[in-house]
Amino acid sequence: MSNFSDSGSSDSGSQDHNATDGPHVDPLTGLLGRQGLLAYLASLGDDGRLADLVILNVEVSRFGHVNNSVGTELGDRIISLVARRLVKTFPEALALGRTHGDHFALCLPQSAAPEQFAERVLEFLQRPFALHGEVIVLSARVGAAWLRPGLNTAEELFHASEVALHRAKQDKTSIVRFDEGMLAEAQASHRMENDFRVALVVNAASLHGALANDEFLLHYQPIVNARTDEVHDFETLLRWQHRSQGLIPPSTFIPMAEEIRLMDVLGAWVLRRACLDAQQWPANATGRTPGVTVNLSTTQFLQPEVLIRAVEDALVESGLAPQRLKLEITESALPIEPLSATLQHFRSLGCQVSLDDFGTGYSSFTQLQQLPLDYLKIDQSFLRGWESDDPEESERYEKLIRAILGLAALLDLQPIVEGVELAEEVPSIVDFGCELIQGYVYARPMPARDVKTFLDARLQKGNNDG
Ligand code: C2E
Ligand code: CA
Ligand code: CA
Repeated sequence: MSNFSDSGSSDSGSQDHNATDGPHVDPLTGLLGRQGLLAYLASLGDDGRLADLVILNVEVSRFGHVNNSVGTELGDRIISLVARRLVKTFPEALALGRTHGDHFALCLPQSAAPEQFAERVLEFLQRPFALHGEVIVLSARVGAAWLRPGLNTAEELFHASEVALHRAKQDKTSIVRFDEGMLAEAQASHRMENDFRVALVVNAASLHGALANDEFLLHYQPIVNARTDEVHDFETLLRWQHRSQGLIPPSTFIPMAEEIRLMDVLGAWVLRRACLDAQQWPANATGRTPGVTVNLSTTQFLQPEVLIRAVEDALVESGLAPQRLKLEITESALPIEPLSATLQHFRSLGCQVSLDDFGTGYSSFTQLQQLPLDYLKIDQSFLRGWESDDPEESERYEKLIRAILGLAALLDLQPIVEGVELAEEVPSIVDFGCELIQGYVYARPMPARDVKTFLDARLQKGNNDG
């Protein structure tokens, strides 16, 4: 297979790089490998031809899930098909490469706006692939870069497109053009990543034991039964206390931990610490003690046996009744093959399972029905939409919230509305058919040491009210 277009144009450098094998060629797709692409770019740089280039760095998103559900052999076939389609879709490409795994890069002449190129990538990937009776729909994220002040060499240009792609993934948007500000941010995030690794190493001993440690800590936020006013559960929310920058939110460091595959060890620590903390909590007025929910990352499901052991160890070490532990998964974790079996295992231990951020992912009705679930948490974005000043928008979101609550009822799942900030929203949500509410309206996430005081104060208030 050619690593270049079949346009046959001989004036734009495509002919002189038409080699089909050699150390720089990716054997699976016949495209250039990363080194090959960089070498080609360097040669363009030597000829002073970088100025007319656009580089697109493309990640086939969700490919990891596809690979997990269809197996690596079919996964490889899909990657070859993607490569073939790219070649056909971009006849004007000067070079096409697979840089690693599900990442491709395209060198294009600046004949159109990068958005138009990116649109073509997205459009062609969204056409389904049919393979051995499986229909697979992919999507992509694209980072684009072209020569501008501050970018001088071929390598810098390529790196800039990678930085833009990284940003596209972070922002969950389909295309991002590189700009200078991103470099400084990329450097800062690099430093942060390094600090994070250091923090993990420094804390390794206490992370492996269930000890407290100086840099990672847990906050808890109540999920309240609005009808009975009783605290139903506390959700565990992880925090990182950076030595100089203070508390870092999980949205910053959890994706990092996932990317560098350290979420397993951190996640196991969260499970242990949360179960130990929950063991200390006092009972509600009714004698029922609140449960504890722990968020699980998609990446923790890649090694189900490690995750299952972490849950079992946390329960054994803490002595917590398994009925009090609930595991939260997000919808994006759904396509992973062993997911259902793993959740079933949690259930067999006595734990419950909650589907988080519902309404933002891709789960099908069939998947929802098949998965062993107990709770459905409606994503906060629906609530924010409902709060819109635009009455039409607000009404549309109210309908969506009611529809999701209807779906939960149909599937026999207990719904939870989270992100509720205003007291006046509570009665309406209860009216819609949802009793379990989480949000600033009841409490912000609080340090572990404040949970007991919080519960005691509610007991006291209940006694006074009653
Ligand atoms: P999530 O699981 O959806 O958690 C709820 C987030 O909403 C929390 O953000 C919480 O502080 C915030 N929140 C709660 N009530 C309100 C409200 O009324 N208004 C607003 N605006 N926000 C509210 P946080 O603590 O920053 O956590 C963000 C995300 O990080 C979590 O989203 C979860 O996906 C992830 N995360 C946190 N801890 C862990 C963990 O231990 N493991 C894993 N895998 N993910 C975690
Ligand atoms: Ca959650
Ligand atoms: Ca959520």
